[in-house]
Amino acid sequence: MAKTATTSAKPDNKMLRDFFLGFVKVHVLHHASREPIYGVWFIEELARHDYHLSPGTLYPLLHNLQAAGYLHREDRVVDGKVRKYYEITPAGAEALGEVRTKIQELVDEIMQPTAGEPPGRAASS
Ligand SMILES: [Zn+2]
Repeated sequence: MAKTATTSAKPDNKMLRDFFLGFVKVHVLHHASREPIYGVWFIEELARHDYHLSPGTLYPLLHNLQAAGYLHREDRVVDGKVRKYYEITPAGAEALGEVRTKIQELVDEIMQPTAGEPPGRAASS
């Protein structure tokens, strides 16, 4: 994994960065399921969400998703330059569906910290 990944949170915290890179992969699949995306556009989209990734981090990530069969790449010439567009594949859509379910379950739990606690362990300890 490239060392250039940074987030606005704590760029020096490797564990957090690993979490965020996982989020980024899901985020890629989400947008690629709606329309073909390309690197520069996606870097700007990530910045909108306050993630600051360099091309040196994003492009290998896109390539890995493609190698896994989750993205299909199509090269198009735009303004005389080749631009690599990525679109989700059926396998990617299936993975996204599974991840979406897991994220929902996780969000439901962690956003209500006391909800799933055994009796007597709720509230502050
Ligand atoms: Zn987004």
